[in-house]
Amino acid sequence: MNIHEFQAKQLFLKFGIPIPEGKQATTADSAGQIARELGGEGWVVKAQVHAGGRGKVGGVKLAKSFAEVIEHATAMLGKRLVTIQTDSAGLPINSLLIEKIYPIKRELYLSALVDRASERIVFIASAAGGMDIETVAHETPEQIISVQVHPAAGLQAYQCRKVAYALGLKGQQHKSLQIIMQGMYDLFLAKDASQIEINPLIETHDGDLLALDAKINFDDNAVAIHPDILAMKDPAQEDAKENEAQQFGLNYITLEGNIGCMVNGAGLAMATMDLVKLKGGLPANFLDVGGGTNVEKVCEAFKLILSDTSVKAVMVNIFGGIVKCDVIASGILAAIEQVHVTVPVVVRLEGTNVEQGRALLSNTGLKIYAADDLAHAAEQVVKLAEAA
Ligand code: GDP
Ligand code: MN
Repeated sequence: MNIHEFQAKQLFLKFGIPIPEGKQATTADSAGQIARELGGEGWVVKAQVHAGGRGKVGGVKLAKSFAEVIEHATAMLGKRLVTIQTDSAGLPINSLLIEKIYPIKRELYLSALVDRASERIVFIASAAGGMDIETVAHETPEQIISVQVHPAAGLQAYQCRKVAYALGLKGQQHKSLQIIMQGMYDLFLAKDASQIEINPLIETHDGDLLALDAKINFDDNAVAIHPDILAMKDPAQEDAKENEAQQFGLNYITLEGNIGCMVNGAGLAMATMDLVKLKGGLPANFLDVGGGTNVEKVCEAFKLILSDTSVKAVMVNIFGGIVKCDVIASGILAAIEQVHVTVPVVVRLEGTNVEQGRALLSNTGLKIYAADDLAHAAEQVVKLAEAA
């Protein structure tokens, strides 16, 4: 789960990580008012969307007057921001973060994430901050340093010093960095984060370190036990279809292709997508209806798949292990009637009561194609999608 920058910065504050002075605004007038309250000579207006790369596309604007703050706020609010981290539709800008401008001497990079290979939380740091870390890693990997934290020992002072030297920090800054890293580590564990990224972590002309940007991802499997984090969820920043799917206990991810896929089991769903691709097609989605699915779920799944107008054909691949194939077949028929499915549907059923299931699906007068094996089903659905 993602949260907004202003929310991440509130968490930073609680864990002792220094942040710029600022406040969230939802109207242009309140943006101007906040700038007035903050005082100073310059402010930054930042679009609050669940994506980075805002700076390059006008999502971060500097202002020298209250009028300019209001002007930028008016221009941003209600628009959608398209960055390299969003799709082509972008994300809605429903709120802004107004902050005092801080003079930047250097932009650094600091993040903490779970390294699956070493099964540890690892800190990644670079003196080349402010830019895309993937680019730095690719072009100048020597500019990146990492330290792994032993779960029993916790973050050690020497590890913070190692990072501080690599970042070219001096004197008091070593202590400042240690406080920031310890805060990140404590926050990471306390709230079950999966990634915390500060890009840039800035060094001001006075030598202070500040988290100018803040990005936190949380482990979806843990948010249920953190109501404070769950309360920060912003559905407007998420795919509408994926939100709806969650409500029905379906695992759904929107993709770019035109073949809708309905499968039970995540592994089978992935194998199905691979096969569709192998046969020259492109899946429109990933959808796992779950092991013990029922008619309602199958109906909701069809509704979701068909609400995507790019879908030209649907492939249903159900293995009847826990559920029986005839139950699934009735579910498919009910769904097709209820949802008024007009695109061709290729169905591959296998498992318990498969004969009864197939019998139910034949001679219905609907555009249902019962396939006897998986490879054949994939070929057929690709052909049907191409013909449409
Ligand atoms: P991102 O592009 O979405 O990652 O947004 P950031 O919050 O990282 O902002 C992008 C860039 O805007 C930063 O790298 C800075 O160069 C600049 N910026 C943001 N806040 C300030 C500020 O308070 N002062 C100055 N001088 N520049 C800022
Ligand atoms: Mn950033």
